[in-house]
Amino acid sequence: MDDTQQGEAVRIDDPRDFPPREDGYQRLWTPQRMSYVLRGNKDGDAKKPHGSECPFCAGPKKSDEDGLIAWRGTYVFAIMNLYPYNCGHLMICPYRHVSLLTDLTDDELFEFEKASALAMDVMREVSHPDGWNLGINQGDVAGAGVATHLHQHIVPRWNGDSNFMPIVAQTRTMPILLHEQREAYAEGFATLAPSHGLPAQAPATGNDTKDRN
Ligand SMILES: [Zn+2]
Repeated sequence: MDDTQQGEAVRIDDPRDFPPREDGYQRLWTPQRMSYVLRGNKDGDAKKPHGSECPFCAGPKKSDEDGLIAWRGTYVFAIMNLYPYNCGHLMICPYRHVSLLTDLTDDELFEFEKASALAMDVMREVSHPDGWNLGINQGDVAGAGVATHLHQHIVPRWNGDSNFMPIVAQTRTMPILLHEQREAYAEGFATLAPSHGLPAQAPATGNDTKDRN
């Protein structure tokens, strides 16, 4: 094979030398991102929230409207996501500032999961989704935006809710304002919580005592 060009050797790889694409994924090699990955290890502040206080500790201290709180239980609360993945994106958080599911007490764990199921029912009542994404990212490396305070994402999904906007314009379309969605959810939580064995709304002042740091 003549692999010279203007006197310099040009390397030509034979595709048969590569392993087959058995998992169906294509690989996009991005060595430039290694500097970001390494910076994350070296600089622990990289993924910490802006401002001094944890947003999930700060939220319940505000009014429901200002803190975007949709429901307050005994051990956990429901809060709207300020940067929603999809319209109506809600999170369930413990009042206590703990990072891992394994840090929860049995009572907290029980209400955490009960409240997640309740949230699905509330969404079903309020906005009739076709499905949900539920998930917990544990640790910076797993994608947790606020890794130090546990939160379960509950994202309603509708058939056809993803369009071209996120792909070509880095923009998500949100057909309802956050505070209107919160209001609708709050009503739904208050109505449906008792049928899940959960309080309709715990007194706002009572939550301070749950902060057992
Ligand atoms: Zn916190």
